[in-house]
Amino acid sequence: MLRDEIVKIWQQRWNASKNGRQTALYIKNVKVHQHSLDRYLLQFLTGHGRFPYYFHKFGLAADPNCTCGLLGDANHYIFHCPLTLRLRKKLRFDSNQPETLFHNKENFGITRDIVSWVCKTVPQI
Ligand SMILES: [Zn+2]
Repeated sequence: MLRDEIVKIWQQRWNASKNGRQTALYIKNVKVHQHSLDRYLLQFLTGHGRFPYYFHKFGLAADPNCTCGLLGDANHYIFHCPLTLRLRKKLRFDSNQPETLFHNKENFGITRDIVSWVCKTVPQI
């Protein structure tokens, strides 16, 4: 009972928080069990990775945009970037409900491949 109450409070805090909103797009519900995620999936889920927007936010890059000209945040490469079209067209999910991205296990590998491609493409800083 105590555990359920703690998770309930955690969920309320997660819902109300201004932090972690990139992660909350894909993980709506908190859970006690741990996930095993590699560095690419962590970069995507947190938005803290080799994304032009993220580098620009901290003054590490002059331009927040992807080379395609659109804002280069983590979601851009999954939803909009023409440069990742070959990979992202393999994703099977409802783009109006981002949390469905990881309902299909095959999407983990595809997302990992997209972020890996971004990491290799964005200039080294
Ligand atoms: Zn792009």
